[in-house]
Amino acid sequence: MIEFRLVPVTPFEQNCTVLWDPATKKGAVVDPGGDIERILKVVETEGIKVEKILLTHGHIDHAGGTAELARRLSVPIEGPEEQERFWIDALVQQSQRFGFPKVETFEPDRWLKDGDRVTVGKETLEVYHTPGHTPGHVVFFHRGAKLALVGDVLFAGSIGRTDFPRGDYQTLINSIKGKLWPLGSDVTFIPGHGPLSTFGEERDSNPYVADGQR
Ligand SMILES: [Zn+2]
Repeated sequence: MIEFRLVPVTPFEQNCTVLWDPATKKGAVVDPGGDIERILKVVETEGIKVEKILLTHGHIDHAGGTAELARRLSVPIEGPEEQERFWIDALVQQSQRFGFPKVETFEPDRWLKDGDRVTVGKETLEVYHTPGHTPGHVVFFHRGAKLALVGDVLFAGSIGRTDFPRGDYQTLINSIKGKLWPLGSDVTFIPGHGPLSTFGEERDSNPYVADGQR
């Protein structure tokens, strides 16, 4: 099984997630956009041994704290997919544009591809490449817990923006319908912002992607 705690970070209240395997207490920090002290406090409170950082995509509110956290914890960075490189390389410009504290760029230790697997302790997450919001966006899925971490692909009642460079609306819709829906309507997802929901609930009521086919 897998356990998690959300840590809203940055002025954008991004859902950074501390995810761990309760059997070993080994864990991962997913999308450390910033507010590193707040993340580390949760890690300490829960007694988690962080062994890696996982990234869904390269936007500042998701990836801005990555370089510093990786250095402080001496852990590798896995994800996103390699087409995300241009966003990661642009982190400094992103931080200036949005008035974020100074950030550093970085090179992930492992770029991920569709169909890859990543481990958290003794647990395994499946990786899906879900472009549209950004070209190298990935989603992490724990099949046993029916839990998906979807970044800015899908939200409760909404979908990710597609007006950024190399974003594309139809590509995003295809990612949601082609990659997420087949995982099952009973899957709970952690979006990059806002409350948790299930794929079934979104298939019922999300104005962008509902099809009533839950
Ligand atoms: Zn984003």
